[in-house]
Amino acid sequence: MGKEMGRLAYMPKPGEIEFREYELPEPERGAILVEVINANVCGSELHIWRGHHPIKRAVLGHEMVGRVASLGEGVSLDNAGNPLKVGDRVVAPYFITCMRCRACRSGMFNLCENVYKFWMQDPDIFPHFHGAFSTHYYIHPDQFVFKVPDEIPDKVAASVNCAITQVFYGIDKIEVKAGELVVVQGCGGLGLNAIAILKERGAIVIAVDGVEGRLSMAKRFGADYIIDIREFPTREERIKKVMDLTDNWGADVAIELTGVPDAFAEGILYLHPGGRYLQMGNVSPDLTTVFAPGILTRRSIKVVSVVRYDPWYLWKTLEFVRANLHKYPFDLLIDREFPLDKVKEALDSSSTRSSTRPTIKPGA
Ligand SMILES: [Zn+2]
Ligand SMILES: [Zn+2]
Repeated sequence: MGKEMGRLAYMPKPGEIEFREYELPEPERGAILVEVINANVCGSELHIWRGHHPIKRAVLGHEMVGRVASLGEGVSLDNAGNPLKVGDRVVAPYFITCMRCRACRSGMFNLCENVYKFWMQDPDIFPHFHGAFSTHYYIHPDQFVFKVPDEIPDKVAASVNCAITQVFYGIDKIEVKAGELVVVQGCGGLGLNAIAILKERGAIVIAVDGVEGRLSMAKRFGADYIIDIREFPTREERIKKVMDLTDNWGADVAIELTGVPDAFAEGILYLHPGGRYLQMGNVSPDLTTVFAPGILTRRSIKVVSVVRYDPWYLWKTLEFVRANLHKYPFDLLIDREFPLDKVKEALDSSSTRSSTRPTIKPGA
């Protein structure tokens, strides 16, 4: 009898997908093999798909929820101490926290030097299942893992290990306080989740976007004010609108979740002197904008940039989502579902914004 096979969608170069099959690996000590239940198309995948990212070939897919298919020796608990067994739904950060490198030993767990040790590897290399656009995904011994509370539906759970936790972590780092006025630039998956988290922190939220569906979702997620880019097409008009809403003083905080370099240059100008800016959506090292750094100095703006998150934030975020599951329409963020065979269509539909955040369901 042959070994059981799994199937994955490999991107040999940006814009192309080929399917490959591999024998399911036996998880090594401390590792877990999961069956992918849902894997969403994240914004950073689009940068890779369009070729605007250092990763040029990989099995994409990292925002996912899976079901434990087999446990390696020694794995009996998740990182919150919950018992783990075959069949449990789990989420894992999409990166490694090795606890042995210079970043880890300085407490910068999101910057671990081995962070993507496995993700960009060719699927020919064991354990093959390095990405989530696949029937299976391999959780390494150095990855954290958390059991998903039963109440959280699959599609929502899939958003937790990237989008929701990313903004949860970023908002902690920029230290938003109750009553502060925060501008959210971009109302895609990250932006909408950010609005929910900000509202729970007691912030007043101004959401900026130009896509009808996203703006109506921003309102459902609790945005207090909307700046519709179609109505305010120039940067000057949008800055004036923020000033009008803040008695000509400026916002306390602005958060960049667009992936558009010009949004950074614009967002800084939404702030009052001494304001704080959170840079999170721009991840392409080769996309630029014209910007006068003197503005930062003269206005004493504090800029905080974050990539990834401390791995235990995944657990905090699961708890946040569970507590607010019925308050915010998290389930509506995933607006289209594709089978594994249609990964290319899913990436293209997200790339053209015909869907906000599609999900791949390999078992469909
Ligand atoms: Zn992501
Ligand atoms: Zn490390």
